[in-house]
Amino acid sequence: MPSPSVSEIISCLSGYDPDALTVEQAQQIVRQCVAPVDSVERLALRTALGRVLAEDIISPINVPAQDNSAMDGYAVRAVDLLGEGPVDLRVVGHTHAGMVHESAVKAGECVRIMTGAPMPEGCDTVVPQEFVLTVTETTVTMPAAVAKVGDNRRLQGEDLREGTPALLKGRILRPADLGLIASLGIAEVPVRRRLRVAFFSTGNELRSLGEPLDPGCVYDSNRYTLYGMLQRLGCDILDMGVVRDDEAALEAALRSACENADVVVTSGGVSVGEADYTKQVMARLGDVKFWKIAMRPGRPMAFGRIASNGKAAWLFGLPGNPVAVMVTFYFFARVALLRMMGAQSDQLPVLRAASQSDIRKKPGRTEYQRGILSQDSSGVPQVRITGAQGSGILRSMSEANCIVILSHQQDSVKAGDAVDVLALEGLI
Ligand code: AMP
Ligand code: MG
Repeated sequence: MPSPSVSEIISCLSGYDPDALTVEQAQQIVRQCVAPVDSVERLALRTALGRVLAEDIISPINVPAQDNSAMDGYAVRAVDLLGEGPVDLRVVGHTHAGMVHESAVKAGECVRIMTGAPMPEGCDTVVPQEFVLTVTETTVTMPAAVAKVGDNRRLQGEDLREGTPALLKGRILRPADLGLIASLGIAEVPVRRRLRVAFFSTGNELRSLGEPLDPGCVYDSNRYTLYGMLQRLGCDILDMGVVRDDEAALEAALRSACENADVVVTSGGVSVGEADYTKQVMARLGDVKFWKIAMRPGRPMAFGRIASNGKAAWLFGLPGNPVAVMVTFYFFARVALLRMMGAQSDQLPVLRAASQSDIRKKPGRTEYQRGILSQDSSGVPQVRITGAQGSGILRSMSEANCIVILSHQQDSVKAGDAVDVLALEGLI
């Protein structure tokens, strides 16, 4: 079933106003429009890191394959430990990981066992070696009731049970997942194909690295932040450079981008003044909406579907200011790209932290301030804003380790008030 067009989705949305869209409305439209790419490729396990699993991984075996010991010690029958005084048990064998103790263990007997060794038949419990009282060649003495039945025994299938899903499709494979899949003996995994994303910057004032900086010009930084963000998401990227503010050049770039990619991300040229001619070009190529979103930074943004020579692509026309481009990417493009990549969960954990200073804020727009999250002397999360928050000050983003999200309705914040914080850093 073809996905609905942007216009169709918008027509169902109550209170749609392109000049005053809330962040939530814009996110909802974007999310509803896009659908996952369907082709799938099979990759060797290591190369699947960061890719999106295309099918559930069903465990073909139990992990662990059999009950085994979680400690170095003695495998015993817990009933032998009941009673009053210390218990003497006869040591009838030694076993360690990779071995199988062949004979069944009888009453009054035990087996010296190492971590990971399969539990000998008849034994149900492991007494750690540090708990025993005396050891000879053939016997071991341990206090009565030193362990309860089942202690220090890892159960067959307690990690992964044969026939049940070990990982669900849509998962972005992380290091632990590679290990998990390897523990099942699986060497190849089905993943969605990479999403192809073309991107370029627009503006006559932009100079590429290596070019002299003429008077009134700036180096093109957006292409580098976009490169980084797209690369981190695992997209297959096509860097199309800088495109001049010229109708024919913009049309040619958009056509070529959409013929060669699933998604086109541009920066610049959607703010007032330039929007009219960008609008004409973009609108000529498809169903594109121009939004003034109630947010800061990042107010203007274009979103839609463009087509050329029978090929279509989603378009994100991001604003030009360096911080705005990052914020609109993170809060609109990112979710859409993840969805197109086939990823299931894109919810990031939002923390609450005490603001270290007052923050001026008017209700009626969402603000994304750049912050530094730390802990106060008692370990409670606190956040301070990274200096000037102008949308051209990329340093604010570079210094930050988090984004402080001040919601649409939120008024000014007093020092000590709790605010929503989204960490930029992750362990993996
Ligand atoms: P625009 O949205 O095209 O009006 O651009 C807004 C501001 O962002 C202007 O000051 C531009 O010079 C600046 N800008 C636009 N694109 C880039 C870019 N690729 N790198 C750095 N600054 C940019
Ligand atoms: Mg411009």
